[in-house]
Amino acid sequence: MEKKYYITIGLEIHAELKTNTKMFCGCKNDPDEIKPNTNICPVCMAHPGALPVPNKKAIENVIKVGLAIGAQIADFSEFDRKNYFYPDIPKGYQISQLKYPIVKGGHLADMDITRIHLEEDTANNKHDRGDFSLIDFNRAGVPLMELVTEPHTFETSEEAAKVASNFAKEYQLLLKYLDVSEANMEKGEMRVEANVSISPDKDKKWSQYVEVKNLNSFKSVERAIKYEVERMYKLFEEGKESEIVKETRGWDEAKQKTISQRKKESSEDYRYFPDPDLPKMKLHEAFDLEKMKRELPESPAQKRVRYKENFGIKDEDIESYINDTELAMWFEKIVSILKDKEKAKIASNYITTDYIGLKKSNTEAHFPSAENFAELIELLVENKISSRGAKDILAMIVLKDESPLKIATDKNILQKNDEGELRSIVKNIIDENSDVVAIYQGGKENALMSLVGKTIKATNGSANPQIVIKLLKELIK
Ligand code: ZN
Ligand code: MN
Repeated sequence: MEKKYYITIGLEIHAELKTNTKMFCGCKNDPDEIKPNTNICPVCMAHPGALPVPNKKAIENVIKVGLAIGAQIADFSEFDRKNYFYPDIPKGYQISQLKYPIVKGGHLADMDITRIHLEEDTANNKHDRGDFSLIDFNRAGVPLMELVTEPHTFETSEEAAKVASNFAKEYQLLLKYLDVSEANMEKGEMRVEANVSISPDKDKKWSQYVEVKNLNSFKSVERAIKYEVERMYKLFEEGKESEIVKETRGWDEAKQKTISQRKKESSEDYRYFPDPDLPKMKLHEAFDLEKMKRELPESPAQKRVRYKENFGIKDEDIESYINDTELAMWFEKIVSILKDKEKAKIASNYITTDYIGLKKSNTEAHFPSAENFAELIELLVENKISSRGAKDILAMIVLKDESPLKIATDKNILQKNDEGELRSIVKNIIDENSDVVAIYQGGKENALMSLVGKTIKATNGSANPQIVIKLLKELIK
């Protein structure tokens, strides 16, 4: 881009909440139910006279998220009817929240948050049968939490795309840590929409914004934002700015482009009004917010700080544990056995490189017990095995969980650290390789490594290389 444009991005993220029952009825909330129209009742089918009852657990989940992002929990909240006609919304309206969302404000991963409100999910339309469509109401009325961020302005589409996808990633992690949503994007449990607009003037109102939907991976969040900015940029450059209209566009993953779906309605079109069937909510009375705050589980951000302070490991290694809580629990158990920061660091190196590598190359590989892994690290730290030996033993214990000391003893790979014993072996090697010794004495430093290799081979790999080097240097004058 030659000319400068300012890019403004806002995100809207819907997440299905993990609750036993649906938002306003007693039907099972089961995202894995494959038999259509199984978990349904007069309430979620919108039969006349059926009355909704709010699910307290769902409200509690939204409050948890609000507390975790440092937001305000509304004292007063209520549900509204958002009126529109579509076959997947049989009541003719969706129960949502407009004026009084449960959560206001907050901050996460470089973005400020406007609000989080609670609504109900729609049914699923199936259009893949030819001339007709089918509707599955299993999802109708599932609690759906919607987060809206503040608009953020960026100077490049790369930066905008990165901040947006990072935010979505961090939010997904947080929902999992709080155990409020599975937030699986491929399954549609978390759905990201990006509002995109550009402007040549930083302070002036941006172009009409476009809402991009169907972003079902972090990659597609990035690609769709970059694509949309580029599309708008071209229209600006060609003087066709007026062709940028407020609309909803869908991201086509196969074609890697956005496609216009419909011109966007404004909130007035929905004629929101408070749902007379549902009670007003006094959240500060209904929930013990202080207690909920105290009992919040550790967030990904808090865990990063703790790992950095307690274990002093690299940021990218910390991310391995942040993204894999099972791995993190295993690592922490190992650390509790080792009881030493330096040893913890070494253990972490072996986990994030060797262990993860072994798991990738062999699906049979699994966690050895923390006790055995800790024993492996102790043997290494005490120089009883070489780093080569440690890697070999690790490859064995991920397939069959055994004591590394027993393996090292059985396979005779315990390192020889006894200088007296090694000295005579080194002497033999020097005598047998006088040509190599001469080359080394002639100034070729590398020749020494060849002698080290021969010595280690002579000990079946058990000689401590550091001691061998020291002895060779000592004995070759
Ligand atoms: Zn129901
Ligand atoms: Mn919504």
